[in-house]
Amino acid sequence: MPSPFQQLLLELESLRISDVPLVDWHYKISLLAVIMNEKPASAIGFDEPTPPKYIQFLDQRAPLLRLFLKETRRPPRDYLNEARISPQVARTVAERWDRSPKSSDCVLWIYKHSAQEDAIEGAARGDLPVHVPLGYPACCGNAYRADRAAAVEEYVRKLSDSTNARSEEELVRHIRESVPVSGPLPGGERALQTVSRFPFLPYIACPACLSRERSEAALQNARFRQILAALSPLAARKVLLLARTVTARRSASDP
Ligand SMILES: [Zn+2]
Repeated sequence: MPSPFQQLLLELESLRISDVPLVDWHYKISLLAVIMNEKPASAIGFDEPTPPKYIQFLDQRAPLLRLFLKETRRPPRDYLNEARISPQVARTVAERWDRSPKSSDCVLWIYKHSAQEDAIEGAARGDLPVHVPLGYPACCGNAYRADRAAAVEEYVRKLSDSTNARSEEELVRHIRESVPVSGPLPGGERALQTVSRFPFLPYIACPACLSRERSEAALQNARFRQILAALSPLAARKVLLLARTVTARRSASDP
């Protein structure tokens, strides 16, 4: 007979939280890590709206699992202020993202201890980096923000070059019209290295964590793998296979 946690994993496995299979597993591993006190909080809604079925599942299970649920506004995209672009261009980029059909302005936080509330509210206001309540290493959180800022700068530069925009007004109009630009994204390669080296991590590891044997990210990946493997070795194997598929697909598409 399955234990209550194994039963919970079976229920989780039947839920689809994200359309991307590996990301879907990362949400499930994050929830289990919060339940097992390996992570302060988990959050969903940053990149896409939370599926109603997952909300329903959490509403039903949270009291039994002694979990708190809290909805906040999406934390401000502070990396836009770090990017070397004008405030008007930064605002226009943010507005365009908000108009995308996948955009969500509401984040659902899941946590086990009410002491986490200050950090969650601080992150939602933009007073505290998001990696604090999520329990990600600061080095990885900072590297991710720098990547995002670099990606926005790169996008604006490429758009400006490809459209020959002669003024900021012209550039702003092209951003509003969502003129597409192509090319690799800063940090994209590291995202892939993270999937390959740390398949259980729900975030992108920084260069230092990727290069060191016993880095914070490496240890967290090992703990998250243990959590899942203790409940179901088969589920842990599935995550490894999914990660391998992602990296193999990418190397096959490399020129
Ligand atoms: Zn790191």
